[in-house]
Amino acid sequence: MKLRGIHHITAIAADPQPNVDFYTGVLGLRLVKRTVNFDDPGSYHLYFGDRTGRPGTAITFFPWPGARRGTRGTGQVIATSLAIPQAALSYWKSRFEQFHVLCEQTSTRFGDEVLRITDMDGLLIELITSPHLDDVDLDYQSEVPREFAIRGFHAPTLEMRRLARSEKLLQMLGFELTSQAGEHRRLAVDATSTSGKIDIVERPKGSFGVNSAGTVHHIAFRCGDEAEQLDWRKRIVDLGLQVTPVINRFYFHSIYFREPNGILFEIATDGPGFTADEPAEHLGEKLQLPPQFEPHRAEIERVLPPLALYRQLSREPSGIQGSG
Ligand code: ZN
Repeated sequence: MKLRGIHHITAIAADPQPNVDFYTGVLGLRLVKRTVNFDDPGSYHLYFGDRTGRPGTAITFFPWPGARRGTRGTGQVIATSLAIPQAALSYWKSRFEQFHVLCEQTSTRFGDEVLRITDMDGLLIELITSPHLDDVDLDYQSEVPREFAIRGFHAPTLEMRRLARSEKLLQMLGFELTSQAGEHRRLAVDATSTSGKIDIVERPKGSFGVNSAGTVHHIAFRCGDEAEQLDWRKRIVDLGLQVTPVINRFYFHSIYFREPNGILFEIATDGPGFTADEPAEHLGEKLQLPPQFEPHRAEIERVLPPLALYRQLSREPSGIQGSG
């Protein structure tokens, strides 16, 4: 039994509107769900991805208006990495230049080109080229031409102080070391899929990250179904780790645990997915609430800031300011 790669990555943002503007307007992803944080229904949970936000494409945010910036460091996913076609590199460089997003091309990693940017909250995003791309559904409204579009995750980087115990856990979850270059160790559950890989860097003297705006909250991996999830839960308990019961996240079922270096891991089922409560054509347009919060819709809508989609984004040096 193996996990099936990355399901989603969840990060913390400050204000929700600039977050939507950046991930849809600049990166060209689709907002596939606007709902609330089920553990804190006074704040949004926003999901971006391909047309239906299928597992392996979904980057999600808890926007906390006014939140302080966190710091990246040990015990965190320090780079959220997304796959792009090899021919898209110069398109993205010039797109970031147009939007005055500072972009740095680093040395190649395992033969692939890497562009690094940070979003408006300081979250480190990497666009990494790959000759093999996951199959994603790009049939949605976006300014980014499909030939250059983001194609799901590509080996995010996890920073650890001592990787031995974590690597043992990852092996149990089905990850195998496939290559090593410089400080990056690449592990894969599926070497043919960009979202089937992660990179680990070991920094014994690294300072611990502080979780707030601009940092990753957790990384979720895919399991086949509920039965498999219970099996994983038992194995994790047997390792002596603290793991939550199965939690119904409405769009999938989840268990959470901290791996030995403190990174919050989730294992989530593929289904039922984001079309469980609205049709694929209208994903992300309206606030969707799980049944337990529906009776409180009026109160919840009153505290959530309004959110507009498809705003015209300015390309002025003052930064990405949307209107309309
Ligand atoms: Zn999650």
